[in-house]
Amino acid sequence: MHSHHSHSGAFCAHAGACSPASMLAHAAALGFRSYHLSEHVPRRHAAHLYPEERAAGLGPAELVQRFEAYLAAGRAAAATQPQLGTLVGAETEFIDAPGGADGRADLVAVLEGPGSSSGSSSAPPRHAAAVGKGRVDFLVGGVHHAHDLPIDFDVPSFEVALRASAAAARPEAELPPDERRAAHWALARTYLDQQLALMRAVQPEVIAHFDIFRLWSPELPLAPSGSDTPEEQRILGELHARLRRNVRFAASYGALFEVSGAAVRKGWPTPYPGPEVLELILESGGRLCLSDDAHSPAQVGHSFLAVRAYLQQHGAAIHVLRRDPAPFSRSEAKAAEEERQRAAREASPRPGDGAPTRFERGAEAHLVEGWAEDSFWEQLEPRRAALERQ
Ligand SMILES: [Zn+2]
Ligand SMILES: [Zn+2]
Repeated sequence: MHSHHSHSGAFCAHAGACSPASMLAHAAALGFRSYHLSEHVPRRHAAHLYPEERAAGLGPAELVQRFEAYLAAGRAAAATQPQLGTLVGAETEFIDAPGGADGRADLVAVLEGPGSSSGSSSAPPRHAAAVGKGRVDFLVGGVHHAHDLPIDFDVPSFEVALRASAAAARPEAELPPDERRAAHWALARTYLDQQLALMRAVQPEVIAHFDIFRLWSPELPLAPSGSDTPEEQRILGELHARLRRNVRFAASYGALFEVSGAAVRKGWPTPYPGPEVLELILESGGRLCLSDDAHSPAQVGHSFLAVRAYLQQHGAAIHVLRRDPAPFSRSEAKAAEEERQRAAREASPRPGDGAPTRFERGAEAHLVEGWAEDSFWEQLEPRRAALERQ
């Protein structure tokens, strides 16, 4: 089996003590057939540092150095477990810079790397699917902020973001229950607009934790039901249209939507994405893949049996990214032509039908035949238990 999304403590302050090599050794021992690396891209503004980074004396320049070191260590680690065919990628951020500047320039600059000419007006345009090509093999498209504030880091910081989304400014006070839900829906709207901007900017091959904006309240409804007030119906109708818009955009360029055990590990009744989103993906012809979003060896393959059961319940197929044996580059003219074809698919009933399976950064999507019957599944938990005893 496979996972497309992982981190390690050597390069991420909120992960356990581990290196890319130890993560891959663990994945190999558990019987994974493919295991990919996707360290967080550096955040570029001091205002976006997390508390443990500040405590460790890290600033934006150190985060950039650490990311460059990750890219090298990831390549070296991949060579130690060649049977895993590890792709070395990165998980994005998309944060409006302090003062409201758009997050795209920051993201493109870190992916293109030090010495890149991006940002200078004389630089040749690089179309979305090629940003970071030559440095990363693929991107996991994650959004972790709304209004410039973290939403999945911990409950207190989520509460700050929630209050910032409320109709009436309440910088300190706890939100009354009736305002809470409306504020959460407003936060979800902001998140989904950031997610679409991210997808337009860099066309990530994998879409991370689609509905992480409801991490702390998975019961937040995302679609109208019979018991809503007319105002709730209006809000939910708008929100559901945004979810559908984003799913259809991603499906139209061939993205893989991760089904992630991380939500179950954090107490959800289902993996990411919840059933309302999963149904939208399936009806759009979108492709699914598996992720554990592991931040330590103990989290490799965590909650994967719940992921399998959830997907079987929905009769879903899965895909895996592997290295493309014949990587290609597009001219800007060719990229513009493919963008017209993508837009036509997006306007069609099933945008995922006929979407490309080969990506310019060097990965290719493959359907995994007979995935649910693989011997991996019955050996996973005994192997996890045995590794834990060591
Ligand atoms: Zn993380
Ligand atoms: Zn993430």
